[in-house]
Amino acid sequence: MTGAGRCTITASQAGDADFAPAPAIARAFQISGVILQAHFDVGADGFTYVDDAFRDTHQPAYASGTWIVSGGFRGGGLRVTLGGIDSNAITGMSGGWAKTFNLTAPTRITLYVRGSLTQSPYYEADEKSELLVRLDGALIGASPSDFLAQIVGDGNTGGAITTGWRLYAVNLGTLSAGTHTLVLGGYNSKKTDATESTTVLIDDVLLTENTAGAQAAVASLDFERFKENIRILSGSGDRTQGSASYTTASLWLENQLRAAGYVVQHHAYTYLGQPRTSIYVTKVGTLFPDQMYIVSAHLDGRGGGGAANDDASGCSLVLESALALAGLPTAVSVRFIFWNNEETGLNGSTAYVNERASQQGVESPPGSGIYPEPRWLGMIQHDQILYDHGLPPQHDQIPAADLDVEYQASSTWATQSLQLANALRAGNQTYSTNYPAQVGSNMNYTDSVPFQNYTATVSVRDNQRVAEIGNGSNPYWHQPTDLYTAYSEADFRLGFNAVQMTLGTVAELAGAMTAPAQP
Ligand SMILES: [Zn+2]
Repeated sequence: MTGAGRCTITASQAGDADFAPAPAIARAFQISGVILQAHFDVGADGFTYVDDAFRDTHQPAYASGTWIVSGGFRGGGLRVTLGGIDSNAITGMSGGWAKTFNLTAPTRITLYVRGSLTQSPYYEADEKSELLVRLDGALIGASPSDFLAQIVGDGNTGGAITTGWRLYAVNLGTLSAGTHTLVLGGYNSKKTDATESTTVLIDDVLLTENTAGAQAAVASLDFERFKENIRILSGSGDRTQGSASYTTASLWLENQLRAAGYVVQHHAYTYLGQPRTSIYVTKVGTLFPDQMYIVSAHLDGRGGGGAANDDASGCSLVLESALALAGLPTAVSVRFIFWNNEETGLNGSTAYVNERASQQGVESPPGSGIYPEPRWLGMIQHDQILYDHGLPPQHDQIPAADLDVEYQASSTWATQSLQLANALRAGNQTYSTNYPAQVGSNMNYTDSVPFQNYTATVSVRDNQRVAEIGNGSNPYWHQPTDLYTAYSEADFRLGFNAVQMTLGTVAELAGAMTAPAQP
């Protein structure tokens, strides 16, 4: 097998003097996974450099491309250099590395590429540099932009400006059968001096079929097991931080994770002078182990009952997602976190962000390929996912019941967080069987908040936190009545649709594959 597509295997037996020939039997199946992969460690891996690859530029003398043996993210890489050369004022320079690939059937595809964009000192404010990707005729960007990264000059007094190495994950949508051309490179709008030059570095290009792995993961979910997790977790009590019921629930949860093959880890911190931990496991990415999505819920609860909806329901979602991805390779890492001390003021998640934000993407020990804290690509928190009975709450689930994906419009990552929320809504349309999802802009009061100024961040809930839950949409919230027995089959089904949505979306984003990728 050489790549993704449809594969047919035929078994036949010709027969001999003693046995008649057997009828041939053919079986066809879909091969998911890697369509194109390049690491540039021993050469350009079939990519070809072209001047003036973007934005209809015509300045080949001010663009060049070189394969470099070192200076990639790891080992070799591809470089594009724009501008410089002399003191002439030049407008519109570009160059890119091109490669064609072939698809045997229409295929939904994600592109992963590491890129670094650097502008030398002395560029003025009307001179910009961009990291660009073109697929066939169209530039691919983070909508509404048509670039992956852009730097605008800061004047003669400034130093060099660089994005540093970033991993870009771009859903290319469904590509038609046939030949396609991918071009990776850069553009410089203007330079006026020999000292003004733009450098684009490219490494680790991966094109994957993005649906088969996600479909396999979602198909492995089990509604009854989702319910049973909630029954068991809430059966030990409300799991107030530091309590015996918290310990009982955490030991059961850790056993489930270990049984699936995970190494259970703890993030230790102090709360009011007492040692506390949050629990996590990590699905390590085969190609980008240094990058991760976070899928989380809070294990602690309150109210003196079972904290079934708040938040045993979210913990069941995170556990089921971890189990579903345990057996499937993913291109990037996924970390599943069960927070402690949410109910006392987001203390577990806040301690995690305070300690670990600066450790993102650090390889330790150097050269080991081990990244204790992979760089955060996005964070999805789940906090109450069962109960949408309207406002004021009705006895039964309302016909318009839905899931609420909220980001925080006032956060510094609002644009990327909205993109993550929209990815979840699209995932809901693809993978959830019964209930829709809507996007809101006032994420608040849960463990995603400490992350909101560091990465794309959303919460998933059964109601909007501020407008609905805060105004009484769930009469069991923080009450002794938040018990497993308080919720109907339809309520659990709403929560199960959240599992389908998050798991399907994260499996797509993380590049889950039904066949292993070769590192
Ligand atoms: Zn909660």
